[in-house]
Amino acid sequence: MSMVRVRDLVVRYGSATALDGVSLTVGSGEMVALVGPNGAGKSTLVNALSGVVRPASGTVRVAGRLAHVPEGRRLFPDLTVEDNLRLGGWRSRSRDPAEVYELLPALVRLRSRRAGSLSGGEQQMVAVGRALMARPEVIAVDELSLGLAPMVVAGLARHLAALNAGRGTAVLLIEQNARLAFRLCSRAYVLEAGRVVAEGPCAELARSPRVADAYLGGP
Ligand code: ATP
Repeated sequence: MSMVRVRDLVVRYGSATALDGVSLTVGSGEMVALVGPNGAGKSTLVNALSGVVRPASGTVRVAGRLAHVPEGRRLFPDLTVEDNLRLGGWRSRSRDPAEVYELLPALVRLRSRRAGSLSGGEQQMVAVGRALMARPEVIAVDELSLGLAPMVVAGLARHLAALNAGRGTAVLLIEQNARLAFRLCSRAYVLEAGRVVAEGPCAELARSPRVADAYLGGP
């Protein structure tokens, strides 16, 4: 069953076309990557999924609850970690912070810290935790790795993989770092200038000279 199904999606900002007929699915419990260069339309796609932008045409269907980890984390720096988590839990059937601490134990010792005082990796973990408060069936993570050291990214990636394996939370990973995305996900879509130019199992995409050249630094 598809948790996310996007068909022929077109999004325009004024006269500029950001998405030009994009189709994409994320199956239940699946981990799918969306890669592509700056300005390809990745954030626009996630914003269409969460209803922030309105399609000019096409359809977007999300079967369960979708939570979005936005690019740049967008935490409230003067609030504590726990209060930031609580802000993700306003919907009915939301989790309690205690459940998120079980899922992401590294947050426990940070719970009373001001979010603004944390490292980039710790802040990203809080942003993931805040998204998990909504008890989502699908989580869209926009630029997990942005500005973070490779070791920190590897730790976060392990957490996401564990959530996916343990809880069956479907993940749409929006990444400029295709190497990371391909390692973590089973399938991927490559978006360029608002169109899907390649899609398939990550192992196959990685063997495609065109994709490897553009995104993996050569075959
Ligand atoms: P990045 O990784 O830099 O965030 P992206 O792949 O997420 O890039 P988008 O942010 O979705 O790309 O942008 C797609 C296109 O739409 C770009 O050409 C961008 O300049 C344009 N765009 C995005 N948001 C707006 C907006 N609010 N108004 C006008 N144009 C926009």
